[in-house]
Amino acid sequence: MGLLTATPALLDHRLTVIDAGPRPGPGAFPGYRIQSNSTGSDFFGWVDPAGPFGPVLDDPAVRRLREHRGAFDLALLAGALDRFGDRLATLLPPDRLIREDPLVHVAVDKEAIGLTLASGRRIDTRALVLALGITEPAHDALAPWAARTIPSGRIVRDHLAALPPLPADRPVRIVIAGGSHSAYSAALVLADAVDAGRLSAEVTILHRGPARLFYPNMDAQVAEPHGPLEALPDLARDICPETGQVFRYSGLRHRARALFREIAQGARQGFTQRQIPAIDDAADLLDRADLIVQALGYQSRRLAMTIDGRPWDPAGGRAVVRPGPDGRIPLPEGSPAQIFVMGMDPYPYDDGALTPTGQYALRGGQILAALARPPAAGQPLPLAEPV
Ligand SMILES: Cc1cc2nc3c(=O)[nH]c(=O)nc-3n(C[C@H](O)[C@H](O)[C@H](O)COP(=O)(O)OP(=O)(O)OC[C@H]3O[C@@H](n4cnc5c(N)ncnc54)[C@H](O)[C@@H]3O)c2cc1C
Repeated sequence: MGLLTATPALLDHRLTVIDAGPRPGPGAFPGYRIQSNSTGSDFFGWVDPAGPFGPVLDDPAVRRLREHRGAFDLALLAGALDRFGDRLATLLPPDRLIREDPLVHVAVDKEAIGLTLASGRRIDTRALVLALGITEPAHDALAPWAARTIPSGRIVRDHLAALPPLPADRPVRIVIAGGSHSAYSAALVLADAVDAGRLSAEVTILHRGPARLFYPNMDAQVAEPHGPLEALPDLARDICPETGQVFRYSGLRHRARALFREIAQGARQGFTQRQIPAIDDAADLLDRADLIVQALGYQSRRLAMTIDGRPWDPAGGRAVVRPGPDGRIPLPEGSPAQIFVMGMDPYPYDDGALTPTGQYALRGGQILAALARPPAAGQPLPLAEPV
């Protein structure tokens, strides 16, 4: 939705949107039953009020999000994205908005891109944008404790219902591996349950490195005391040149930040933080844990791809699919196929764009430029059902 709402000129092309879910727009956000690490005003400033998505800016759900001060429940963002999805559905012909029919295979043959959906439907296209989001697969470092490990996303989505049966006669020993926003979102669910008398737990949060905390500016950062587990900002790298904010996107914010500080100051009984260079260094603790919450990061969601008949991994064996400077996935041997990637790396995006706003419009411009170029001579594209 970021891409399309920032670059609605993409709708002037023969565009098809394919989504595995029932509704275009909200993506993963309905599953995040936690508070944001962003602010409502971060969103939709990129939408041209005079463009096709402009009227949605006046929708009460969108206004509520954008005017909200401070942290908000991510359900608010899911609702706003839903409104943009509704608008998209009115802008595309019905057969060009495909829902609940996931893309399962991409076959690249020179410039031609052949898509196969789960239903068996096939689509040939001249350009493809992969915007499949991220997943949280089981991490190798926790393999010895896999039977007692759940991903942080489960707690974020299902809260206490995510927990397996646990001892009821003593405080449950829980280890959260990782010190990110996801880790502290899971920790907050647990802390709220403890406060509500629904859980008795000893929770240890394992940090690999010092944690980043968001500050509105450097003066605010200097004014606060910092414990040994808090990362000190690199003045050249970690201050947003647009806003002066410190760790603008990567820093813990709102209640997650408050919980970090509370634990760091020893003010939250039953919760401790430990810095460990490697997971194995906490083997004793993990052996004794009743439950381990994995919050060690995300990978790009993949699907099967072939290039000239040979299987191909768009991430090149790494965790994240990273586009080249032109926004395309670098293909082997300079294959000219136009496959772009939007997002698919853990937030904040990491392709040189300063903010998501810049990333959406940047990628949209790159796709429009590629579409403006005629296909290479001698390679007519099979446009049976084109995008
Ligand atoms: C715990 C947590 C908290 C976060 N908090 C914030 C926050 O406060 N603010 C913020 O801005 N960001 C936050 N983020 C980041 C945010 O989730 C992502 O930036 C955002 O969801 C990325 O959107 P996306 O469209 O790239 O991916 P997703 O939202 O994951 O959407 C992927 C889409 O691809 C579809 N799809 C997947 N596979 C297929 C397929 N094979 N075929 C067709 N469709 C497919 C899915 O149905 C889905 O609609 C958070 C992330 C996490 C994990």
